[in-house]
Parts: sequence; structure tokens; C-alpha cells
Amino acid sequence: PDQLLFYCRPGFERDVSAEVEAHVDQLGWQGRPEFSPQQGYLRFVVDDGRPANELHRELRFDRLVFARQSLLALSPLFLAREDRVSAIVEQVLASGWSFDAIWHETPDTNEGKALAGLIKALTRPLESTLRKRGALRRKAGGRRLHLFWTDGDRVQLGMSFRGNRSELPGGIRRLRFPSSAPSRSTLKLEEAWHEFLPRDEWDLRLAEGMQAADLGAAPGGWTWQLVRRGMHVYAIDNGPMEKTLMASGMVEHLVEDGFVWEPPHRLDWLVCDIVDKPARVTAMVQRWLTRRWCREAVFNLKLPMKRRWEEVQRCLSNLESALAEARIRTELNCRHLYHDREEVTVHVRLLD
Ligand code: SAM
Repeated sequence: PDQLLFYCRPGFERDVSAEVEAHVDQLGWQGRPEFSPQQGYLRFVVDDGRPANELHRELRFDRLVFARQSLLALSPLFLAREDRVSAIVEQVLASGWSFDAIWHETPDTNEGKALAGLIKALTRPLESTLRKRGALRRKAGGRRLHLFWTDGDRVQLGMSFRGNRSELPGGIRRLRFPSSAPSRSTLKLEEAWHEFLPRDEWDLRLAEGMQAADLGAAPGGWTWQLVRRGMHVYAIDNGPMEKTLMASGMVEHLVEDGFVWEPPHRLDWLVCDIVDKPARVTAMVQRWLTRRWCREAVFNLKLPMKRRWEEVQRCLSNLESALAEARIRTELNCRHLYHDREEVTVHVRLLD
């Protein structure tokens, strides 16, 4: 294998490319990105003399913002429509790889979705052949084979490793919209929690009786999530909050400027979904964190500009150096979530 393959939201290829290139550069590797706009993936061809699997291992998936999945990949295949299985099996056997699972995936595009029927028909014959030939086994160290279909006769084979990948098909976390939530935005905060907080810590870190501030809260999708966890919420917005949510008695709605408002005492959570300049939002959150007004924060950076990764990078590194200067130890993550459109979600947690 001499390639890496990354999935992303269609339209964000340039951002994954800029991001991967920066990391590759920093790690001291050589190669070139290949992508077409709106296709929902990026190939990175390693051209370094060293095996691509080493770069794949060094490039930590959880440090990437715009990539939904990260794979070590073989050259893309063109398949004969009358026999798609043989060429795939051949390439797998030639690679010497073995796996304990096979996932079929497509770009997150309409063309990709249209391949569902074909994939369904191929799944069983391919699995049984690879099993017979020893490439699919009960135990193979958690290695997973990904078949990334970009067309009915085009597929790229990739491999993923436990601890350095998304565990979700397509790297996409599908969540059901809770029908009583005031807005679709609610899913962004829910997804952020799934992404950044281990499930077995939810009862501790999203606990009943905690206190939160929601800046730019109206109509209340994020507040609804906090209230669902039993938290008391200061909802800051000059717009109206939804009535049934207010009737819960858990929400205090304050018509104030979220960039100026200060909490009456220390809170557990700060969340912010205000549409404003990323640098302005970051500076505000930085003030909250350096004054320890909250223990954890989730906020969005809206990215209407062209160079989105560069903007995110600038904001995060400013925030990181400000926190380091103030000697505040934090855990900081940022991801382009499935429910994020032109924005990314940042999570920060104070460590002491
Ligand atoms: N998270 C909300 C939800 O789930 O329903 C949606 C928030 S909406 C994207 C952004 C909100 O930020 C708007 O309601 C707007 O009134 C509010 N907003 C904009 N500037 C603000 C400011 N300086 N202070 C407080 N709220 C602000």
C-alpha cells in the first residue's frame, strides 16, 4: 500500500487536504494529495521511500478535524462488471492482509447512495470467497477491510486499525431527532457529547443538578439537551425560547449579549452556538476558561470562509497558547461533526 484514504463531508476536500498536508509535513513525510471537489474523499499518495503504514500510524485520527475516516489504502481498482469479485479477491490476497471484518462504504453523495443495491448483492459472495481463501478470519487483530465504492465499477480497498479510526460506518454518527426538541441544532450538541465524552463518564460529567450556560440559546435545541440531562441552564439570547422548554422550570432566559455576560458563580458547562467570527468566539471562550467559569465547554466555530482549516488552526493554536500561558491544563478536541455544516465543534475540558 502506498496511499492513505480519508472520507469527509462533500465540499470539504480542500480542508482535509490542507490539514493532512500540514500534519504530513510536520511529521517529516513526503507525498501528494489527490481530490476532486464535492466527491467526499481525499487520497494521499505517499512518495517517501518509507512504507505508508508508518505514516498512517503516526498520523493520529483523533487529531484530525475534517477527516471522517482514515485508512491505509491500495491503488483504486477498475472492475469488470460481469465479475467484480475476482479482482477484489486478487488484490486482497496479493496484499497479504487479513481481516476480521469487511465494510462496504461509499462517499456521502447521492451517487454513493445509489450504489446500495450493488453492494448488497456483492456482500455475501465476497465474504465467502475471502473466508475460504483465509483473508477473512475470526481473529485478525481488529483489522478491518474497507471497500470504498466510488462507482459501480470502481472501488478502493483500505484497511483500518483499532485505536486509530472511526468506529462508525462512513465515519458518520446518525442520531435520531428527538421530536420534542425545539430545533434540529439539538443534534450537534448530542453528537459532540458522543464524540468527546466516553459513554461511561456521562453520568459523572453530564450529571443531574449541574449548572450550564448556553450562549445564543434560542430557540433552545442545545438547552433542551442540557435540561434532558437534568441540568439548570442560563439561556442567553435576545430571541425567544420555546415555551414547553421554559415550562420545565430548569431554564433561566436572559436577554443579554453572550459575549459580555458573566455567570453569577462558577458553572459546570458552557455551550455556545452563536454565529459570529471564529476568533471572537474563541476569545470569549478563552476568557471563560482562564477564569475557570466552567469546567467543560462545547462551542462551534462558523466557517463561511474559503480556507476553513487554516482558520480553525489559527483559533485553536491561539487558544492553546493562551491556556498554556495561564498554566491551565486542558483536554482540547475539535471535529467537523456529521451534523455540522459550515462549522466545526470544539470541546475543552479543564484537567485541574
Ligand atoms: N443552539 C440553538 C438551538 O439549538 O436551538 C440555535 C442557536 S442559533 C444558530 C444562534 C443564536 O445566537 C440566535 O438565536 C441569535 O439570536 C443568537 N445570538 C447571536 N448573537 C448573539 C449574542 N451576541 N449574544 C447572545 N446571543 C446571540
